Formats: sequence, C-alpha cells, structure tokens
Amino acid sequence: MRMPVVFVGHGSPMNAIEDNNYTKGWKELGERIPRPKAIVSISAHWQTRGTRVNDSKNPKQIYDFYGFPSELYEVVYDVKGSEELAKRVVNILGESVIVDNSWGIDHGSWSVLSRIFPKADIPVVQVSLNYDMTPSDHFELGKRLSGLRNEGYLVFGSGNIVHNLGIIDWNQSGGFSWAEEFDTMINKHILAGDYDSLMELGHGGSLAVPTREHYLPLIVCLGATLDNDKVEIFNEGCVLGSISMTSYIFK
Ligand code: ZN
Repeated sequence: MRMPVVFVGHGSPMNAIEDNNYTKGWKELGERIPRPKAIVSISAHWQTRGTRVNDSKNPKQIYDFYGFPSELYEVVYDVKGSEELAKRVVNILGESVIVDNSWGIDHGSWSVLSRIFPKADIPVVQVSLNYDMTPSDHFELGKRLSGLRNEGYLVFGSGNIVHNLGIIDWNQSGGFSWAEEFDTMINKHILAGDYDSLMELGHGGSLAVPTREHYLPLIVCLGATLDNDKVEIFNEGCVLGSISMTSYIFK
C-alpha cells in the first residue's frame, strides 16, 4: 500500500507532554493513516555538511533543547532504527549520502512521533538537511525518496513553516497577522500545486523564515509528493505569534 507523505509543524518540545488541539491532531493522525513499515524522518534539528543517514539498530534519543521542565527530559521514546530502510536510502542516494550514527532521533522526530505512534513500535531512520544544498536540491532529495512510499515507508518531515524564535510572544495564543498571512499564502501555493514559488522562500532571511532549517523539511516533503496525491491540511494556524503549526498530509 502506498504510504502518504506527512509534514508536521512541531512547535514547542512541550508538545511531547502537553495535550492541546495540535497534539490531538497528531494522535488522530496515527489512527487514520496506514501503518508504515518504518519512517524516514527529515527533522529541522539535524543539519550537516553532506546528506547523512543513521543506520543504527538502536538510535540514541536526543534531548536537543535547553531550559525545559525536567519532566520533558524523562520522556522515553525507545524506538528502533531500521537497517533495511537505511540501506534503501543509501541505495537510492548513492555516493551523495554518508552513514552517520553520531546523532540519533532528535526532538523534531520524537516529540511528534511519540504522539502519533505512542507505542514506539515503528522504526525511525533520520535523513539530515544539508547545509550545502539549496532548497531545490532538497526538493530533489524528496523526489528521490518518493519511491519509498510504494515500499511501505512513511516519508515524514518535521519543522515549522513560520519559525521566528527571536520575536516569540509567550502571551500570544495565535499568530501575528503577518505570520498568519504567510501561512495562508503557503497553503494557497500548496493547494494549487505551485511549488516553484516556495523554493525561493527556503533560503531564509525573511521574517517568517529567518533561517531555513524549519522550512526545508516541508520542501523535502513536497519533493516526495506524487502527481495524483491529494493534499489535506491539518493543525492549521500559528501559536506564540511567530510559529506556525500548519501541517499537511499528501496521499
Ligand atoms: Zn524545532
């Protein structure tokens, strides 16, 4: 069965332990998509020189955030890796990918996957974002990974379309008007299948996308879409002023 492509806006790591409308959306997602053999995850929190993939049977869980309540550092998402999937990624990407087990499963992956698949019984393999690749190159990377969908693997991206930590407003429940507008604009392009104009925005330097790492997982996911995919938007909206939680399923 062909697996969907899922891009999730992950927001605060606290979503691993808090219950809100977004985490409800994640939980429901796990109940309504087919069960994948394993997950290839592109997280905003793994950026490297060269494209990297981990092939460890027991990848480390990375607590890559600071200053959060101790409860969050006690969350165990004891998920396995998949040598089989990592091998497929290496086959597909060839010399352009390096096997690297120095990282592991970071919170971009586990804070969300622990809510979507709480049993931790679906193996996860992370593929990194590459400092040396353009947004269009990341789109191509997604394209190359798209065939995995027909082999029962879920292509999963975790980032945030609008992600500006520098101007977060902890008292704001929704988004600043410019953030909501940006988010809506991206929705329109995606619904229209107009991905070209989304590449330009992936270089960073704007208010909504000051740096590119939270935006690029979306680009990889768009690359992994297939012509007859239908898109469904879920968890739409912004939080804390300058973070978008908007998420997509392509299937
Ligand atoms: Zn993040």
